[in-house]
Amino acid sequence: MSDTSLSIVPSIGDFPNRKQKAKLIIDWLVNVHAVKSSQTDCVLGSDLGYPIDSGAKNLTDEVEYLPFRLMTNGLDVIVERQIYDTGQNGMDSFICPKCNEDIISDGWSFLDEYFNTGNSMFICPVCKRESDLNNFVIDPIWGFSNLGFTFWNWPSFKDEVLKEFEDRLGCKVKVVYSHI
Ligand SMILES: [Zn+2]
Repeated sequence: MSDTSLSIVPSIGDFPNRKQKAKLIIDWLVNVHAVKSSQTDCVLGSDLGYPIDSGAKNLTDEVEYLPFRLMTNGLDVIVERQIYDTGQNGMDSFICPKCNEDIISDGWSFLDEYFNTGNSMFICPVCKRESDLNNFVIDPIWGFSNLGFTFWNWPSFKDEVLKEFEDRLGCKVKVVYSHI
């Protein structure tokens, strides 16, 4: 079976105090028993994650799709710079917030630049104006941050849960769905 992930990603390329905020979010999710506090091999990759717990049922309307029976069922908390792509879902459009042109065909070097340097400002090749990568309208949604919360094989969250993430992080978040 292939795996999917749902990542909650702040709309900020360089998140201040990201480790403190990460801890705050983990404490909240452990407190409501959405995940367990002891880390195990429950996420893809070499990192350890926080395994799903019974309170996860309160975070989604699609309880039947929660991955209780899967080994890959946990939360991976990422505090390093990362580009949250959609995996097999790719990218259909990449629209400049200043001129509304779709510039998807103009190469991907800006992704390398963000990854390598952390510079999330990108100059639109059409209108030559600069915008933050997080302000481009990307379909399906991608995220760019040095903080993120990836839930492996979880279904969509309720809107009020996303709002709670935003309140706790103090900024808008993106939800990136990836299919490996
Ligand atoms: Zn433009």
